[in-house]
Amino acid sequence: MQILIAPYAGFCFGVKKAINEGENLINNGQGPLASLGPLIHNPQEVSRLKNLGIISRENLNDIIENKVLIRTHGIAPDVYNELRKNKLEIIDCTCPYVKKVQQVAYEYANKGYTILILGNKEHPEVQGILGWSMGKGIAFRNLEELSNLNLKNEKLCLVAQTTENPDIFKEVSRFLEVKFTHLVVFNTICSATLQRQRSALELASKVDLMIVVGGLNSANTQKLALLCHETGTLTKHIETAEDLQNDWFYDIDSVGVTAGASTPDWIIEEVVRTMEEMKNNEEMQGAGKGTEMEKQLEQDMSKIEDIKPGDILTGKVVQINTDEVLVDVGGKSEGIISVNELSYRKINDPNELVEVGDDIQVLVLKVENSEGNMILSKRRADQEEALNKLETAFNEGAIIEAEVVEVVKGGILVDVGMRGFVPASLVDRGYVEDLEQFIGQKLRLKVIEFDRKARKAVLSRKAVLDEELEAKREKIWQEIAEGQTRKGVVQRITDFGAFVDLGGVDGLLHVSEMGWGRVSHPRDVVSEGDEIEVYVLGVDKENERISLGLKQLIPSPWEVAAEKYHVGSTIKGKVVRIAPFGAFVEVEPGIDALVHISQLSWDRVEKPEDVLSIGQEVEAKVLDIDSKNKRMSLSIKEVTSKPVKEKKEPEKPPVQIPNEPSGVTIGDVVGDIFNGIKDKEKD
Ligand code: SF4
Repeated sequence: MQILIAPYAGFCFGVKKAINEGENLINNGQGPLASLGPLIHNPQEVSRLKNLGIISRENLNDIIENKVLIRTHGIAPDVYNELRKNKLEIIDCTCPYVKKVQQVAYEYANKGYTILILGNKEHPEVQGILGWSMGKGIAFRNLEELSNLNLKNEKLCLVAQTTENPDIFKEVSRFLEVKFTHLVVFNTICSATLQRQRSALELASKVDLMIVVGGLNSANTQKLALLCHETGTLTKHIETAEDLQNDWFYDIDSVGVTAGASTPDWIIEEVVRTMEEMKNNEEMQGAGKGTEMEKQLEQDMSKIEDIKPGDILTGKVVQINTDEVLVDVGGKSEGIISVNELSYRKINDPNELVEVGDDIQVLVLKVENSEGNMILSKRRADQEEALNKLETAFNEGAIIEAEVVEVVKGGILVDVGMRGFVPASLVDRGYVEDLEQFIGQKLRLKVIEFDRKARKAVLSRKAVLDEELEAKREKIWQEIAEGQTRKGVVQRITDFGAFVDLGGVDGLLHVSEMGWGRVSHPRDVVSEGDEIEVYVLGVDKENERISLGLKQLIPSPWEVAAEKYHVGSTIKGKVVRIAPFGAFVEVEPGIDALVHISQLSWDRVEKPEDVLSIGQEVEAKVLDIDSKNKRMSLSIKEVTSKPVKEKKEPEKPPVQIPNEPSGVTIGDVVGDIFNGIKDKEKD
């Protein structure tokens, strides 16, 4: 068994600094010291420090020492004041990273900002930051809690507890950036935490088992354990080497070790040393070869012939207790399955999984314990069976069904008799925003990576969907032909038409084929997601193109035009096009009739646009209908009255004006006429 230690594990710089400072004071004879709360979240280290003379005091009033050491998490300003009031000498070991968050909170609270703190409000670090926020701080754990806050359009400042998850921080800052304009964001997550998280994740993806060492109440160790668990690798969070259990290492080839930022090196070393000893003794193999245990087992085996560790037996459940299940495997006494050996899934009650009388498969871990019982595992028997099935499915490319049990970082876990991992990108053919929707669903999957030794299987639902789609596509290309009517779903709309999914293959429904009338935009007729029936106009298998029509599935208006419109009747329409020889009038969608230039007016018309314009409503008389050739001719002038020709007055003979050379001027003539009129008046 290989033991690998994460490159970044254990004490961070902040914790090292605090401990060194405390130890130096003690070594210089300045002890004993009090620390307000445990100096770090590690009980073993706290107890070592206590022995040195650095005593953890929960409350200010409990402090009997003269000096008080402020731990890395820091404290609120009012606590500083209290300590000063009590005349205590303060040794401030607040981590510089934590100090920075406090400073930001203080500065922006004084500028009138609300301080949003991503973190656990019960944690001393967050309580300190809340104190520095001067009553303007709000702590929240995640996006859900944040979105429930009643935030108005105020000035906001976002910070984070130093041990927070960077992904959650990103998520909440993105959420706030979209909703609020007066926002300042400070990513105050400590790089030590990130380094430890990254190197733990990297290691977890390479090993069969991860051991995370650190205080069970240490926030950063808990997060490390959670991250490792989310990779799908079996993960155990321990405080010390004493917590290691032999049966965790059964059939394990590689173990990764990481530790929280508050775990001292001596604890990590002890854990590694213990595992090495276990490895040397091969106890962790359940029944190692050539060891004392093996010899003992061999003797035991002589009592129960033929049964050996690793064997898979069928047994009957005879009793179910809260922490174990007893199984009759035909021996002298019942075999025991402890609750954590029932399933790799977390179960609260064995009754969820088995019933008395069930026949189940079990793997023998120990042939006989000190009480003479066989120690069995259902989980490992299931795993063996699952591995066989997965291997067959992998080799044959077969599809298997599995239930989604958990969403983890980067994908989902499925129950294939053991944990199977489906990366997020392989859950569907496209991007899936919310993986939680798959929890509890049974998915059809293909095994795309399988490693029996590492007990790892990577599965893909996308591979199944791709394959099914390809089969559908092939079928469509084989069957599709011009003249067919098919069902499809509108996938995408462009200015020139819509792409319709016919079940794996897209066809183009051109805008001109959408209706008998004029369609200004495809969106006027269809919307994305519409299920429609289409007519196959053409199939080009070589270039994989299908052209579709919609109007072909509704009767052409020309089919009934002759019944609707009669020669001599008057219709109304709209001018839709003008040509040098006349104008086209839309009588109804799909029927454009021609008004010849000679039929526009009783007067002579030079150009149709002199008397008509596009869009103009007109009345016209039907002159002719030719449904076969889709032609209709109209006359506008026929619905207007023909102008009556004016009668011409006979022309009067012109006044004879003698020529001037006779001696009479035009003035004389006019004078004579004038005098003649005057004479008449006198009479
Ligand atoms: S984890 Fe980071 S912030 Fe916390 S004490 Fe260590 S160095 Fe400081």
